Amino acid sequence: MNRIALLPPEISQKIAAGEVIERPSSVVKELVENSLDAGAGEIRVELLDGGKRLIRVHDNGSGMSRDDSRICFERHSTSKISREEDLSAIRTLGFRGEALASISAVSRLTLLTWDGEEAQGVQIEREDGALVRVLDAAFPKGTRIDVEDLFFNLPARKKFLRSDRSELSLVTKYITNAALAFPGVRFILIHGKREIINSPAVGTLRERIFQLYGRSFLDRLAEVENEDKGARISGFASRPLTGRPDKNHQFFFVNKRPVRDRVLQAALNQSYRGFLEKDMSPEAFLFLSVPYEEIDVNVHPSKTEVRFRDASFVFQLVLKAAANLLLGTRTIKEIYPQAGESRAEGGVAEKAERPFFPLVRPESSPVTEAETSAFFPGAAGSPAHVSSLRVFGQYLDTYILAGREDALLVIDQHNAHERVLFEKYEEIGRAKKWPRRMPLIPVLLDLSPSQALALEENGPLLEEAGFRAEAMGGRSVAVREFPEIFKDAEAAEVFLSLLEEIKEGGSEAKRERLLATMACKTAVKAGEPLSREKMGFLVEELFKTSRPSLCPHGRPVIVKIDRSEIEKGLRRG
Ligand code: ADP
Ligand code: MG
Repeated sequence: MNRIALLPPEISQKIAAGEVIERPSSVVKELVENSLDAGAGEIRVELLDGGKRLIRVHDNGSGMSRDDSRICFERHSTSKISREEDLSAIRTLGFRGEALASISAVSRLTLLTWDGEEAQGVQIEREDGALVRVLDAAFPKGTRIDVEDLFFNLPARKKFLRSDRSELSLVTKYITNAALAFPGVRFILIHGKREIINSPAVGTLRERIFQLYGRSFLDRLAEVENEDKGARISGFASRPLTGRPDKNHQFFFVNKRPVRDRVLQAALNQSYRGFLEKDMSPEAFLFLSVPYEEIDVNVHPSKTEVRFRDASFVFQLVLKAAANLLLGTRTIKEIYPQAGESRAEGGVAEKAERPFFPLVRPESSPVTEAETSAFFPGAAGSPAHVSSLRVFGQYLDTYILAGREDALLVIDQHNAHERVLFEKYEEIGRAKKWPRRMPLIPVLLDLSPSQALALEENGPLLEEAGFRAEAMGGRSVAVREFPEIFKDAEAAEVFLSLLEEIKEGGSEAKRERLLATMACKTAVKAGEPLSREKMGFLVEELFKTSRPSLCPHGRPVIVKIDRSEIEKGLRRG
């Protein structure tokens, strides 16, 4: 019996569409790339319901002729390459001729276009991958594409879309990337009635970064540059000792195409070793231009990955570019001999110690039997047992050595303190009892578009964490109150990193990340000498928490070495 049949075209079309079009942001990406390829000087993106109801991309580029505007929906119809040789030197963002075919297979689509030459523009309506109508239209030179009801005919895919907010934030991220790569193009992003990005054309990347991120952000960056054998790195990256605790602000572009790339990432982060505090990463906008023959962009359907012909050459190129920036500046060890002990920025000037347990201790709650005995199997877990733990001292100024009759414990002081503070902060937040600082002059900040969205979404959550911030128009914000555990000089940086933590996810996950970050910032660091008394106190507090064995980020806190192991090793057992 024959079992194999060719899929009907409606089905194969939809399967193919799924490879390129995953969500509203992929539609926006494909349409905006087309606008850029068409030489647009202005691109306006409008969304309704995070793009689920409507995505409209309007450009003032070349437009299309009447004939082209009908053919462009065929799979593999492209004006960008025509010969096989072209594939090895792709200069445009698009070239596979799939995007419009795919988008129109999974939505209701209306195209309006005029090339400025034919007598009239044209309007084309398509649905479910088929032509519905062609009309004459009076339309200025350029193209507008409306994509309505994305995945209306693909419910399985539609189910995987996230909340309007999350979809919007992905679109915002993409437009930010495109705007960075093309400073000479005006980008506008509007959600419903709200304008999220509006950056008029500017002459330089520096001005674009200023438009999108503001002055203080730009001040932390320096220009990078390096050229070798026809390849060039340019852009901006963190000055030494600035950086941030995550890698969210590392942008890489290859021939103006935003990419995720391990080689570039590794080279950047390696360059900064020794120039930033531990656990901090550089911010960077790095643009690599290489001869088109040196890269393969046809690795991934959405073209967000590239393959370099000579990856180690590219690695060296980035390394040298960063070295040029960092050269002449000293390493963190030279500037702050006790590096790792104190925070670099302001940490030395204001060495005033942070109170070890800044807040009133809550009612002590005994550790449950189950928890303690999980830790010391066989021991009758009880508070009495915990208090019988002895602290022996500190190893490498980083680990607390403690023990009881049946085991030695090596406790990571930073992770332990994080766990303790995290649970205290949870309690204070729930009770809305943050002791707050109210600076005379509020802390003023410029936010990136996605940070501004995060703030707008999460006011109550930030309030619960002790922060009160007020929008000042545009994307400026004034932080008027913040928890007393932070110094004035820290407030800005802390607030910005909290916004990064709450960009995505459910409210419980956000709350946890927020408090974990606050705990991380206020906990003792590795490399910090502690008095015997503090160590004793920390260990005691740790075993009162609900999960002494894990820090709030999920890293282990304690390594346990059983006495029996020790005795076995020493041939005593
Ligand atoms: P690709 O970009 O890979 O060529 P697409 O399916 O994205 O494939 O687009 C097909 C063709 O339609 C493009 O090659 C281009 O000629 C034309 N086109 C699409 N969008 C626009 C636009 N905004 N302005 C002018 N031409 C466009
Ligand atoms: Mg395209």
